[in-house]
Amino acid sequence: MSDFNSLDLLPSIKEALANKGYEKPTPIQAQAIPHLLKGKDLLGIAQTGTGKTAAFSLPILNRLGKNPVRVDKRRVRCLILTPTRELASQIADNIKAYGKGLNLTSSVVFGGVGKQPQVRAMAQGRDILVATPGRLLDLMSEGHIKYDQLEVFVLDEADRMLDMGFINDVKKVIAKLPKDKQTLLFSATMPKDIANLANSLLKHPERVEVTPESTTVEKIQQKAHLVAKLKKPDLLIEILKDETIESMLVFTRTKHGADRVVKKLAQVDIQAAAIHGNKSQNQRERALGNFRDQKIRVLVATDIAARGIDIPQVSHVINYNPPEDPKSYVHRIGRTGRAGREGIAILFCDETEVGLFRDIQKHIKLKIDIDEDQPFHEKLGLHPDAGKRNAKPKKKVSMSKKARRRRSFRG
Ligand code: AMP
Repeated sequence: MSDFNSLDLLPSIKEALANKGYEKPTPIQAQAIPHLLKGKDLLGIAQTGTGKTAAFSLPILNRLGKNPVRVDKRRVRCLILTPTRELASQIADNIKAYGKGLNLTSSVVFGGVGKQPQVRAMAQGRDILVATPGRLLDLMSEGHIKYDQLEVFVLDEADRMLDMGFINDVKKVIAKLPKDKQTLLFSATMPKDIANLANSLLKHPERVEVTPESTTVEKIQQKAHLVAKLKKPDLLIEILKDETIESMLVFTRTKHGADRVVKKLAQVDIQAAAIHGNKSQNQRERALGNFRDQKIRVLVATDIAARGIDIPQVSHVINYNPPEDPKSYVHRIGRTGRAGREGIAILFCDETEVGLFRDIQKHIKLKIDIDEDQPFHEKLGLHPDAGKRNAKPKKKVSMSKKARRRRSFRG
């Protein structure tokens, strides 16, 4: 599909896109919009930056605009649930721009601001409502929002909802929605809880998936450190003894894990900060700002909190735990090697993580060198051919004969 003309969208929507300067659909738009125009449910694996907002907004505007109805008081025809107020505002702004020539009403509700203007807006009913879960539930419990006119439901950034601890609120909202509706779920990754939610929520969905902007993996030197779980803090501290490392991003599996790493580093006077779903927006921004300004050397993050971080000077990415979803590995290491610089990505793998390490190598179709010279090296019974099946010839760093001999263990 070369441009938006081949899509069956209302002329005023096409005009709005032309005004925005969009010439052709992004891959997620090209894949998703035709299904959505047919009224299908959709599972979209995509993250912010891929054009996913337009991918769901355009067909929704088309559907509602083609069939205008009077929206009753406190009713909505389309609900878009998204985790943060920044995203909610962004989506609402986009919807206003794309739907400029249509006679549709839209509103946005999120916490941290006065409730009354939102209550007043909802009193008149709205074609489209963009909301974060907490404030929405609040308004629902007070009877300000009803769903008997609901036609479309979008759950945006589902994995981030999970990470931020909103998933129960999301489920409470879903429980109040009518069964008969078009449902769209977007998530950048597919943790088990989200896959289960998608299964229960979507009816015969179409699945579309796009990979984010190509990462500069070629420029990143990747290696793995096999290490006992208890020795990981010592290993990290050992690596940080190299004072030429100015900016390191560390990924942990859990929020508590991230906090623990920060504490361990503080014990040896290494300044670090954590960003994750339990931190307030202010705390996250401060941590990110300090890291960007190089006031702290180390930023520790969970996957989703770190999404979109673009800090050119990050020289090292440490996967303190391998990600559960191998695709996240590529997103994570893509935080280094930016703006034409070289980057180093080190994967820590303990005795419980060997399977995840193998999955990653299979996914990237590349064997990651194991550094056996680091002081905390453990064999862990990892078969040296892990991930070799389907593997292309190795691209980087050929090993010395001595190192190869050392690695020829079996187990
Ligand atoms: P999103 O992933 O929805 O946050 O979109 C990322 C950015 O891409 C936003 O700034 C959009 O305005 C922009 N965008 C979305 N679709 C297109 C398109 N087809 N052509 C050019 N820019 C786009």
